[in-house]
Amino acid sequence: STLLEVRNLVKTYGEGEGEAETRVLKGLNLTLATGELSALLGPSGSGKSTLLSILGTLMQPTSGEHVMLGQDLTRAGDRDLTEFRNRHIGFVFQFHHLLPDFTALENVIFPAAVQAGRETAAARARGRELLVRVGLESRMDFLATKLSGGQKQRVAIARALMNQPELVLADEPTGNLDRASATQVMALIAEINQNEKTTFLISTHDEKIAETCRRRIRVADGKAE
Ligand code: ADP
Ligand code: ADP
Repeated sequence: STLLEVRNLVKTYGEGEGEAETRVLKGLNLTLATGELSALLGPSGSGKSTLLSILGTLMQPTSGEHVMLGQDLTRAGDRDLTEFRNRHIGFVFQFHHLLPDFTALENVIFPAAVQAGRETAAARARGRELLVRVGLESRMDFLATKLSGGQKQRVAIARALMNQPELVLADEPTGNLDRASATQVMALIAEINQNEKTTFLISTHDEKIAETCRRRIRVADGKAE
């Protein structure tokens, strides 16, 4: 079934601000089916981050249609978008953005605790279970600063999965890792995708990383193919 669809997506930066306009997305169309594992390819500056920000409801397109889980997100207000994002979308970034003075487990449960307004026993249990799943059972109580780059990215993946999102958007998740750690992180993503039907869209400019994904989507000239 269809998880999300964007039609005729246009994004222009610098509109009406007296600066030069940059039209980054020029009528892009894309459909993601539930359970897909896709790589988003394209050279630096082609608009991958822009597209991920829009799909993640972090940024509004200049124009176009954006429907996910049957909801028309282009017409939703900020509060509804925030709630939608918290419930349905997880994010992984190139730089893990972990809180350095917190443990792996605290990092995983912190965003969920902030949203819920408190830290529940159920959240702690889920956080532990996720860290076991990403292979960090023995590192749960390590401070983030004590983890390797690959381990930190696995914590970031566990954190992204905390609220059981239907969609995980990952912006160059292996961009800061050596080849061996990058391969491990991709294998972990593939395993989660298989077992949970979580849909992943992973931007990369690395063809080798993209080859590990079942589908490859290329952004070129503001469109996707
Ligand atoms: P990619 O992720 O493929 O490297 P981006 O989406 O980051 O591409 O950027 C696409 C283009 O949009 C680039 O030319 C970039 O300079 C421009 N751009 C990105 N963000 C902004 C912004 N906030 N304001 C103006 N231009 C931007
Ligand atoms: P990042 O670049 O994401 O901050 P690094 O790979 O540079 O992460 O590692 C950050 C810290 O983790 C450093 O203090 C480093 O000594 C330590 N570290 C690196 N690899 C390992 C490892 N395999 N096990 C434990 N600690 C490690």
